[in-house]
Amino acid sequence: MHFTRMGSYEHAEIPIIARGDGAYVWDTNGKRYLDALSSLFCVNIGYGRTELGEAAAKQIEELAFYTNWSYAHPRAIELATRIAELTPGNLNRVFFTSGGAEAVEAAWKLAKSYFKMRGEGQRTKVISRKLAYHGTTMGALSITGVPALRETFEPLTPGAIHVPNTNAYRQPDDIDPLWAADAIEEAIEFAGPETVAAVFLEPVQNSGGCFVPPDGYFQRVREICDRHGVLLVSDEVICSWGRLGEMFGCQHFGYVPDMITTAKGITSAYVPMGALIAGDHIAEPFQHGVNTFAHGITFGGHPVAAAVAMANIDILEHEDLCSHVRTNEAAFRDMLEGLRDLPIVGDVRGAGYFQAIELVKDKETKETFTAPEAEWLLRRYLSNELFSRGLICRADDRGDPVIQLAPPLIVGREQFDEIESILRPVLTGASDRIGDLASLTAAA
Ligand code: PMP
Repeated sequence: MHFTRMGSYEHAEIPIIARGDGAYVWDTNGKRYLDALSSLFCVNIGYGRTELGEAAAKQIEELAFYTNWSYAHPRAIELATRIAELTPGNLNRVFFTSGGAEAVEAAWKLAKSYFKMRGEGQRTKVISRKLAYHGTTMGALSITGVPALRETFEPLTPGAIHVPNTNAYRQPDDIDPLWAADAIEEAIEFAGPETVAAVFLEPVQNSGGCFVPPDGYFQRVREICDRHGVLLVSDEVICSWGRLGEMFGCQHFGYVPDMITTAKGITSAYVPMGALIAGDHIAEPFQHGVNTFAHGITFGGHPVAAAVAMANIDILEHEDLCSHVRTNEAAFRDMLEGLRDLPIVGDVRGAGYFQAIELVKDKETKETFTAPEAEWLLRRYLSNELFSRGLICRADDRGDPVIQLAPPLIVGREQFDEIESILRPVLTGASDRIGDLASLTAAA
């Protein structure tokens, strides 16, 4: 299993999720769970939408598969056209992939290839943020800034540079709010601007727990990239398709990148698909003579995935799920903010239906947990308690301990109340045990 300590299941049952409907899933024992993580930030429209199955069946009957290598087919063309209509600026060129990491790989390769064609072949390096997750294939892993995921696979693809993220929780109040944006310029200047191809940033950084940018961050980064001729890539594998209340996360923060990478919610994960969306200016050099973007993936733009993506976007539009998120995000956030009375709740942050709670040992000093304490808290206590009470969310320790919530975009007050009714007693139980953590971790 992916990213799973298999040993945990030597003497325990593997949870087997067998069925889904709306925001809920059921395991093979018939137990119901509220999926407040949309199965890894994917199932934006919720489970059980038969329209997507119908679209897939129709497409299989008409044309099950045809390659995008030197050919096209109607669904990929229609989907690319529709995506181009939804994106801001001149982001009109779509290169389909099978998932997120492939989109990130393709973006780095396209950036390198683009600069080579423009006679700037020395621009190969990329900049991304510490703790950010951008995928696990070798190029994407190099861009990923999570040391624990990188170590085993060193040496990685050379040329990735990591800069500070926008975690503001422990920042001094008097710090320049845009210091982390300026750190990107420092890194570009240090590396040599003529050697830097692209900056990869998520609109809201997932790993570490929903780090939102300060006001003006992306505008400053855009200026910096323009000043140094560096491309800005918005990695929206999570933050697109309504997650932040807009079709694309960059629209939420009001910036226009040179490329967007997306996946997950593009089909609400009913079938696998990803995409790299590039500005016309990036695609332009490839339109003439023998010039080629020498990159491809067999299943890129699979007709069944394209048909399902169209049906998914139909639902997002007809049900106006972006407006639904914008209308309800305050109620979602208020519910989480209401948990701040618990001693263990240090911070609540995020945007749209993408929120995190940071857990702390001491609220006054913002002291975090030691590694063994975090291990006990997240993996022994919280994950088990939440799951056994029927709530799926993410208890994550890639940075400081956080609980992340990203429910399907269809949920409203009823589900917020349900989340609260489980989170509150479980976090109260965790708060009650803070004083005993030393003995609990020793006994574990
Ligand atoms: N980029 C970001 C921002 C992601 O969140 C993810 C996956 N969580 C990826 C890339 C990689 O996507 P995939 O797992 O589909 O390869």
